[in-house]
Amino acid sequence: MAEFRSFRSEAVVIRHADYGEADRMLTLYTRQQGKLRALAKGARKPTSRKAGHLEPFTHVTLQLARGRDFPIVTQAETLHAYLSLRDDLILTSHGSYVLELLDRFTYQDEIANPPLFRVLIETLARLAAGTDAWLSLRYYEMRLLDSVGFRPELAQCVKCRSEILAEDQFFSFDGGGVICPRCGQTIPNLPTISVDALKYLRHFQRSTFSEAARARPTAVVREETESLMQGYCTFLLERELNVPGFLKKIRA
Ligand SMILES: [Zn+2]
Repeated sequence: MAEFRSFRSEAVVIRHADYGEADRMLTLYTRQQGKLRALAKGARKPTSRKAGHLEPFTHVTLQLARGRDFPIVTQAETLHAYLSLRDDLILTSHGSYVLELLDRFTYQDEIANPPLFRVLIETLARLAAGTDAWLSLRYYEMRLLDSVGFRPELAQCVKCRSEILAEDQFFSFDGGGVICPRCGQTIPNLPTISVDALKYLRHFQRSTFSEAARARPTAVVREETESLMQGYCTFLLERELNVPGFLKKIRA
């Protein structure tokens, strides 16, 4: 790609920071180049025509020029502004969670990850349209983990590889999946996963969003799956902080 002086990119703005006197440094997640930093020159001037297209959450088409250090935005056009994600406090917090998870699980490696880009814009669109936020966020977490190489194993015990039966199980964050009751007894302090929560997560893992939306989990199952998925994400991110480059190695 380096041979092209100018290139187009479809992107979601993750965040921006002040840069120099009047510029903004953008962190983008793009369809074509994965995560990318780019410079928006003059974006803090009141007269800037680009600035409005470059706010967090915005889905944009960009024209970029190869700069010496960073690509430089030469044109920006909004595809979806997702204004409700900026205006409604609760939606803003949901949208910020989506972008933060993406930001922390990806590197600026210029490797396209089309499934991840797709689920990102689908999730922002669902949240902005007022679709069930709980479901939208859990579905996003599951697909994000899939597309960065941490799909949780829910069909076999990650220790002995025996098939998981319809009974209460354990879950190992470190092992990346379910641990059968036999193996689970030998490992201290493992979180448990009920048979109902496991069934729900397995259904979720292989379903489209509309299929997943047809399941009606109880409040107990919702709470259990949420705390398990969030615990797993937190564990992975903390481990990644301790071992720099870990996620990148896994993907390569
Ligand atoms: Zn086992």
